[in-house]
Amino acid sequence: MNARCWICCLIITGLTLCAAACARVDGTNRQQLMLTSEAQENQLGAQAYAEVKGSEKPCTDPAAIALVERVGRRLAAVAPNKGFTYEFTVLESQTINAFCLPGGKVAVYTGILPWCQDEASLAAVLGHEIGHAIARHGGERMSQGTLQQAGGQTLAAILEARGVAPTNSQLVMLGFNAGSQYLGVLPYSRQHELEADYLGLIYMAKAGYDPTAAIGFWQRFAALSGKTPTFLSTHPASTDRAARLQAKLPEAQALYQAAPQKFGVGELVPEKYRAKPAG
Ligand SMILES: [Zn+2]
Repeated sequence: MNARCWICCLIITGLTLCAAACARVDGTNRQQLMLTSEAQENQLGAQAYAEVKGSEKPCTDPAAIALVERVGRRLAAVAPNKGFTYEFTVLESQTINAFCLPGGKVAVYTGILPWCQDEASLAAVLGHEIGHAIARHGGERMSQGTLQQAGGQTLAAILEARGVAPTNSQLVMLGFNAGSQYLGVLPYSRQHELEADYLGLIYMAKAGYDPTAAIGFWQRFAALSGKTPTFLSTHPASTDRAARLQAKLPEAQALYQAAPQKFGVGELVPEKYRAKPAG
């Protein structure tokens, strides 16, 4: 096969795949390649969550647990209903991190609380993480990984031989072999980060938290550059991140004004976690 044929084959394969295996992101309507099912992603999320909870030290501070639960439930109540069974876990660790696995399995490390300072900033973090899960960024990355691993020619041959079978177990398993990396270890793409920023801003505003707090949080966080905590290494600060959020602020402000209950910045994080973080 010459180069031109090969490129044509890739394009045709891509178009065929997209026609058969594309989803749209709830909230932005962006089209995304999706070879996995939500049920498969959620099952992987639940497995990974059980592993995290089994290996990390749980936080026993009732105030911190209540804070995360309260903010998380308010966000979950306004996020698109994807049939998630939300769970919120607080882990006692200096690690500056938080994540939401597919299916709504959320973990917050106490190390991120000093950077949040109040409920609204925590809502910005959790809204962003829930945004990744709602937008199925994990599944999208697994799908992209499957495509890369299968390779254009191999995939084309498989598709030709079997008809387009986007949930074909062999294809899906190629992606799932690397699934755990895609769920939490590798950084999301810039496109995914900006999309999660936007979705998180919308959720926090709908939940009744002042959306301007999100900009303050990301600016504080950008000041951490050079210290490379986990959350920052997987959420690289970009120079235009705050500017992009600022541009979306009028839309978020309108939703905040329309929210049935307004909490402003909400309560402060418990005092023991409020000390100014070493930056
Ligand atoms: Zn992110």
